[in-house]
Amino acid sequence: MRLVLVPTPIGNLEDITLRALRVLKEAEVVACEDTRRTGILLRHYGIPTPTLRLDQHTLKRAKDLLSPYTYVAYATDAGTPGISDPGAELVRLALEWGWRVEALPGPTALIPALVASGLPTHRFTFEGFLPKAGRERKERLLALAREGRTAVLYESPHRLAQTLEDLLAVYGPEHPVAVARELSKVHEEIFRGTLREALERFREPRGEFVLILGPKAGPPPAGEALARALRAEGLKGKALFQALRE
Ligand code: SAM
Repeated sequence: MRLVLVPTPIGNLEDITLRALRVLKEAEVVACEDTRRTGILLRHYGIPTPTLRLDQHTLKRAKDLLSPYTYVAYATDAGTPGISDPGAELVRLALEWGWRVEALPGPTALIPALVASGLPTHRFTFEGFLPKAGRERKERLLALAREGRTAVLYESPHRLAQTLEDLLAVYGPEHPVAVARELSKVHEEIFRGTLREALERFREPRGEFVLILGPKAGPPPAGEALARALRAEGLKGKALFQALRE
């Protein structure tokens, strides 16, 4: 039993490797998050392999769904399966079933965003999506306040402004950030500036976004930025101040 994770384009259909196309052709089935979306790619390249929906809702039935096959290619909506998508859970399951798991190198949003940002790339941390709310979000933001490496985050358009505000509270308004929007698409844009400027620029954003934050150096911000953090997070003043200072 063989599962091959196939990275697919994040915008431009040309961003796919020859090996990925070969695997999509050879596999008995292409399991994917969205059969319509992956179908567009397969049709574009004239690949007749049948598709099978395997998203976060159908993953619990994955074993049954995949049992008729011995060679499965897996593609998520865009980029590398396993990075902030159901691919990671499928890999965990497939290893549990004793399948051979292979991952092809290929497109992902985080790497082009990082390297085009102009921020240090020799050490970085990938944070993916921050938790939407609650204690977990607070803890992740507090951890970022101490992060000495460049940080890469994913965010959806409707949460981008709130996340920029929270990051501004933690990093301070003048902290360097890059916002990569619609990578490899017609409206690709890479904004490079401070968190304050990014917040002004992306008040009502559209598209897909990767945020790159420069490494944090020195003590965490105090004063106005900290006050904003306290208001945004609803923490008691001293508690957050202490946490940021630790
Ligand atoms: N597996 C994907 C990868 O390898 O990058 C990520 C999947 S995650 C569900 C989707 C997120 O990736 C989006 O919300 C956005 O943050 C980021 N993303 C995907 N395509 C993008 C693009 N063309 N430009 C900017 N960000 C993108």
